[in-house]
Amino acid sequence: MSDLFITDRLQKLLPRLREFMREEVYPLEKLFLTRPYIELEQNELANLRQKVKAAGLWVPHLPEAEGGMGLNLTEFGQVSEILGTSPLGHYAFNCQAPDIGNMELLHKYASPILKERYLHPLIEGKIRSCFSMTEPEFAGSNPVRMASTAEKVGNHYVINGHKWFTSSADGAAFAIVMAITNPQAAPHARASMIIVPLQTPGFVHVRRIPIMGEAGSGYMSHSEVRYENCVVPVENLIGREGEGFKLAQERLGPGRIHHCMRWIGICERAFELMCRYAAHRELSENNPIASKQIVQHWIAESRAQINAARLMVLHTAMGIDSKGTHAMRVEISTIKFFVANVLMQVIDRAIQTHGALGITEDTLLSFWYRHERGARIYDGPDEVHKYVVARETLKEYGVKI
Ligand SMILES: Cc1cc2nc3c(=O)[nH]c(=O)nc-3n(C[C@H](O)[C@H](O)[C@H](O)COP(=O)(O)OP(=O)(O)OC[C@H]3O[C@@H](n4cnc5c(N)ncnc54)[C@H](O)[C@@H]3O)c2cc1C
Repeated sequence: MSDLFITDRLQKLLPRLREFMREEVYPLEKLFLTRPYIELEQNELANLRQKVKAAGLWVPHLPEAEGGMGLNLTEFGQVSEILGTSPLGHYAFNCQAPDIGNMELLHKYASPILKERYLHPLIEGKIRSCFSMTEPEFAGSNPVRMASTAEKVGNHYVINGHKWFTSSADGAAFAIVMAITNPQAAPHARASMIIVPLQTPGFVHVRRIPIMGEAGSGYMSHSEVRYENCVVPVENLIGREGEGFKLAQERLGPGRIHHCMRWIGICERAFELMCRYAAHRELSENNPIASKQIVQHWIAESRAQINAARLMVLHTAMGIDSKGTHAMRVEISTIKFFVANVLMQVIDRAIQTHGALGITEDTLLSFWYRHERGARIYDGPDEVHKYVVARETLKEYGVKI
């Protein structure tokens, strides 16, 4: 079905990736479900990353000149689906959010000195990064309202702000911080993106926020942080002053393709678990759960939804490749809420099929159920994306909303 989007290089690459995931990544999932993440990050995952590098599969999203595979977005989306079948996939290949978005941003907009200092160690996997925009005091759905400031004093910015959901800040080397540099400008031109190394005096890591009962650790966590008179050189500015929201939009367009394809990977794995369990779990002799029509419907509906989601996302990715993010903004909003909801439904059906086992840590399902609920919220809540789709559609009918 997705052959429509296969290119020559994917024909060889995708089977290799599937095999690598089966042989090297899936076997670590038991450890992932039973040990603190940070232990795995420092040991087994560090070894796994070396194997990915040795196999020439490292940073697949980047251009060849930066050590990547030079894939376009439609191609990388299909890679992302395969990596998404395990919670460890993207991290193993160093193309995990938020680093992937930060790498793409720095690659496009950072000065040579910032690339040398931050992008290259990030690409090599020597450091991690985070993205610090959302503030607890303001609605993240309308991020132009923010209180964080970066005041220019001589050759430096003095940064003050309170942020939360700065994902993966725990153990990260630097943050890309959104802060107001031009308070008199129009709302969309007030903020800038500035790199703050996290060892800068005044950076306070307040806490790892417990999410659904779990604070996580290292890469797998979301932090509340404060910037209290953090002083960084003006050369840490990415792009130009006041361009923060423009760059954020650039970062988010491809980012939504990455997320949606990762979610489709999760759906495929949950679907496989559901079918396998339904086929083997017997209610009585020779009477597996799969014989029940309700389970058959869950399977059929999930299959249809996943196939539809993949076609929509890859079609959107192709549009971004050929026409750019702006031209595809309605399609991007459409896939963001559609695929997030397919994900919720498929995981929930897979859990229900597994009965009590589904809510234990003996399968990946409960991890995904907890961690992926955020999919309907981050990168724009469902309601905002539905509004965009309805607004643009109704314009054609003379309705202005
Ligand atoms: C797992 C996760 C990871 C995240 N990682 C990061 C990160 O790395 N860096 C970062 O800066 N931020 C991050 N965020 C924050 C994320 O960007 C915000 O949560 C998101 O923008 C929504 O903002 P909010 O939570 O303040 O919700 P609010 O803006 O307060 O909205 C609350 C609810 O109101 C409703 N709503 C909002 N707007 C509308 C509207 N226009 N029409 C109708 N209803 C509406 C929606 O139901 C929404 O869920 C992350 C969030 C999550 C959940």
